Amino acid sequence: MATVPRGKLIIVSGPSGAGKTSVLRRVFAETSVPLVASVSATTRPPRAGEVDGVDYRFLTPEEFDRRRRQDEFIECFEVFGSGYWYGTLESEVTPGLDAGEWVVLEIDVQGAMAVLERFPDALSFFIRTSSLDQLEQRLRGRGTESEEALKRRIDEARNELEFADRYRYQVINDDLDHAVREIRETLERLEKETQQDAR
Ligand code: 5GP
Repeated sequence: MATVPRGKLIIVSGPSGAGKTSVLRRVFAETSVPLVASVSATTRPPRAGEVDGVDYRFLTPEEFDRRRRQDEFIECFEVFGSGYWYGTLESEVTPGLDAGEWVVLEIDVQGAMAVLERFPDALSFFIRTSSLDQLEQRLRGRGTESEEALKRRIDEARNELEFADRYRYQVINDDLDHAVREIRETLERLEKETQQDAR
C-alpha cells in the first residue's frame, strides 16, 4: 500500500490591515494543494458571525490555562496589544500532517517564531503592504475604528514588521490578485517538488 507523504506546516503572519484574511480565503478556494486551516484557541470573545470550532475555539481563561499547563499547545501567547491569549493546539496540527494535509497556521509573529524553532522546516509567509503608510491608509479607509484604536494597530504593525525578514517568503499585498497568485504558485511549486522527491 502506498504511504501518504507527510503534509507540510505553513505559517502565515502579517499586520492587521495587510489583507491576510482575504488573501488566504482566495488561496484556499483556488489552490490544488490540500490545505486545511488549523483552528486556534483564544480567550477573546467571539465577534458577530464567528462560530465556535470554525473560526476559533473560544475558551474561558481558566480552560485555556488548564490546557496550557497540560501542554496541549505547540505555541500560545498573549497577542501584542490585544490583552487576549491565542494558541495553536497540537491536536489541530499533527493528525493533519500525518494524513498528508498542508496545515495552515494564521498566527502572530511571536507564535510564528516559536513554531519555527520547533518545526524549522515549516514554510513561512509574511503578508504585508509595501509601506506602513499604505497600511495606515487602508486602516483609515475602513473607517471603523477610533483614532486611539488606529494608533494601537499601527504600533502593532510596526512591531510585527520588525520580524518580516525572519519569514521565508514576504508577500506584498498591494494588489490582491497578485498576492494570491504569488502564494498559490509558491505552494504549487513546492508540492510538485515534494512529489518528485517522493518518487
Ligand atoms: P483576531 O483576534 O483579530 O482574530 O486575531 C488577532 C491576532 O491573533 C492576529 O494577529 C492573529 O494572527 C493572531 N492569532 C490567531 N490565532 C493565533 C494563534 O493560535 N497563535 C498566535 N500566536 N496568534 C494567533
